[in-house]
Amino acid sequence: MRVETCPVVVVGGGSAAFEAAVAAKQSGAPRVVMLEKAPEPEFGGNARFSHTGFRFAYSGADEIRGFLRGMDGAAFQRLQLPGYSPGDFTADLMRVTRGRINKNLAEVLVNHSNAAIHWMDELGMQWEPAGHVEIDGKLYFEPGIVIHPTGGIGGGISQLNQWRDIATAMGVEIRYESRVRELLGNDRQVEGVRVSDANEEYELRSTAVILCAGGFQANPEMRARYLGTNADLMKVRGSRHDTGEVLQMALALGCKASGHWQGAHATPIDATFGDVELSNKANRYGYTFGITVNSLGQRFFDEGEAHISYTYAKTGWAVLMEPGGVAYQIFDQRGAALQDASYYQFAAPLEAPTIEELARKIGIEPAVLRHTVSEFNNAVRDDIPFDATKTDGRCTEGIAPRKSNWATRIEAPPFQAFPVTGGITFTFGGIEIDGDAQVLNTGGRPIRGLFASGDIVGLFFHNYPSCTGQTRNVVFSLLAGRHAAAQGL
Ligand SMILES: Cc1cc2nc3c(=O)[nH]c(=O)nc-3n(C[C@H](O)[C@H](O)[C@H](O)COP(=O)(O)OP(=O)(O)OC[C@H]3O[C@@H](n4cnc5c(N)ncnc54)[C@H](O)[C@@H]3O)c2cc1C
Repeated sequence: MRVETCPVVVVGGGSAAFEAAVAAKQSGAPRVVMLEKAPEPEFGGNARFSHTGFRFAYSGADEIRGFLRGMDGAAFQRLQLPGYSPGDFTADLMRVTRGRINKNLAEVLVNHSNAAIHWMDELGMQWEPAGHVEIDGKLYFEPGIVIHPTGGIGGGISQLNQWRDIATAMGVEIRYESRVRELLGNDRQVEGVRVSDANEEYELRSTAVILCAGGFQANPEMRARYLGTNADLMKVRGSRHDTGEVLQMALALGCKASGHWQGAHATPIDATFGDVELSNKANRYGYTFGITVNSLGQRFFDEGEAHISYTYAKTGWAVLMEPGGVAYQIFDQRGAALQDASYYQFAAPLEAPTIEELARKIGIEPAVLRHTVSEFNNAVRDDIPFDATKTDGRCTEGIAPRKSNWATRIEAPPFQAFPVTGGITFTFGGIEIDGDAQVLNTGGRPIRGLFASGDIVGLFFHNYPSCTGQTRNVVFSLLAGRHAAAQGL
């Protein structure tokens, strides 16, 4: 078998891999090779299907102005940018993971988040405002998510193209259709990888290997094994190449498992979703401004618990647990008016002048849906003013489940229903790293030369504050690249 050597090897070709490779090259690694299993036309992993929003701590409008340099002054004035502190970010991580996230890694993630986004900016990444709600000409953002790389919804490919340009200009070598099928070494020291490409199998020997091969969400056997009943039936929102074998190799080498192995990021998507190329267009995140019922016509979760960025990643799970794994988001005209235009572009809703007719169109018993809507309407606290720009406390009283915010009667016809199901984005179970992105063995000691970043790292539990994945990637990839470069010199 042919044997080659290289100072720094990066396994994977998604955003975490590009960031690690660029950081290693920038830190002086004489040669960096990225090994990507996918063929070139499918490069980029999960970010290819994303708009790659980044949650990060920032001070306010003046700082964001520096990222949006080309934006016209009057347009910039419309952006509402109150700042998002490290304390805000930490509190969000702790709350949604129910205190289970590794506190040391959470601290590293939060405290490096601002510098990591500025690092991307210094490398030449182009930015635009993130998704928002527009009210009276002003643009309101989810807390901490105000910019993303240019390209709009589905703009993850734009970020990846920018990364690929930066990496290749620095001399990073990218090998497509190069599947890593074995990690060389032991649980004390990594020694390289065995690679299988279209022509041959060879060893790439290295003293510094960075694992960025993603989660196991595209592997139905592993989903069934770890995520539980019916998880093998989940629709996959991202790369079909994220099949978890590198994670399994890492565990077999003696790496320590961490994160929530029965947990995953799963969001509500249009029930007709089938084409991964359209996955970000099939998002159904407008549930805060209506009610959601299952196929029996009953509500089953608090649609107004918090901003969608704190609930969407568990709401797909909630839908999947209902009969048939489907549900229906129901809006009246006021709720419909608050939806982004993109809501209607993927598929038109079912529409009817009465709740009973809408129920017939969905296939729900009309009297049951009428009862659910009437009970909900009667429970709405009309005395609390509605405010779509913040958690307004306008709740229901005396029904279960309650709706905690933005509760408004469903009474202005025509009524609309969007059929939804749950789509899996990425898995939460992975391997453990320390604050320098070094992989730990089951004894809790760093494995010399082995680093990891991205979805292959087990970090999240239960739920996830939106757009933390991309920030986690860049923070830990930057650390991994820098330390791997020092290791590989
Ligand atoms: C539709 C969608 C929208 C999203 N939106 C956002 C968002 O706005 N903000 C955010 O923060 N996150 C978002 N995410 C999540 C985010 O994109 C991922 O968490 C992140 O991209 C993971 O990066 P990664 O590099 O770790 O893994 P991936 O991007 O999945 O890359 C892993 C790579 O490893 C390769 N690989 C696998 N096995 C092997 C092997 N044996 N040998 C070699 N290579 C291998 C795969 O081909 C793949 O390219 C979204 C995800 C999806 C699917």
